[in-house]
Amino acid sequence: MRSMQQAAAGLPLQLVRRDPGRPGPGQVLLRVCACGVCRTDLHIVDGELPRLGHPVVPGHEIVGIVEAAGAGVERCAPGMRVGVPWLGWTCGTCAYCASGRENLCDAARFTGYHLDGGYADYALADSRYCFPLPEAYGDAEAAPLLCAGLIGYRALRRAGTARRLGIYGFGAAAHIVAQVARHQGREVYAFTRAGDAAARALALSLGAAWAGDSGAPPPEPLDAAILFAPVGALVPAALRAVVKGGTVVCAGIHMSDIPSFPYAILWGSGRSSRSPT
Ligand SMILES: [Zn+2]
Ligand SMILES: [Zn+2]
Repeated sequence: MRSMQQAAAGLPLQLVRRDPGRPGPGQVLLRVCACGVCRTDLHIVDGELPRLGHPVVPGHEIVGIVEAAGAGVERCAPGMRVGVPWLGWTCGTCAYCASGRENLCDAARFTGYHLDGGYADYALADSRYCFPLPEAYGDAEAAPLLCAGLIGYRALRRAGTARRLGIYGFGAAAHIVAQVARHQGREVYAFTRAGDAAARALALSLGAAWAGDSGAPPPEPLDAAILFAPVGALVPAALRAVVKGGTVVCAGIHMSDIPSFPYAILWGSGRSSRSPT
């Protein structure tokens, strides 16, 4: 099969041909139909996440058809179309796994990072992390839901019942979340990089009430804010933009350092900061 892999950070992806392998116990072999590109793929390729000492096959928004199933696989049968997200394997026994918070598993392995991802003709995946996809979605439409949609919706849930919702960074996750938030009757305030007219136009076209620079205060205080932009300097800005008791959700896998800020904007206003990942 063909596979696109990166030998080391900073090098271009290379086309290699290799055997797809056979599914081990609990695994399935998928024929990849589509695989999205996530910001985290770019963080990995750019060397912003620690390298693991082996070539990386990126891609963790995989839509594929089950070609073969290993021993003990019950959830997936050959011919099924499934999706594979970033979280690709967990130990199943640690305190986090045992309490239904396997996303925090200390031994977790991630698709397209520890595990070969979807930039290939075939991919091996743990059947516990293969999810059936509704037929109504095409392959290309379903793929972004497996990370941008998943992380975005989880961040939106963490934002609680906020009516005025700020979104910092208007990319893949934000453009999905904005549509869900509008459907739920919330007001969306989109914060983009200074001068990013295209992102602002996209936000407004998707129903945002306002779109402006990420450094600017919103026209109204926000009930909650979600940070998708991997920019730590936006955390204090978001804390200042929300009302007393408001929530700031940091939704990225990677973020630059958060600068120091006055304790008063965190405690004095009773604001809380959460991470969904
Ligand atoms: Zn992702
Ligand atoms: Zn675990």
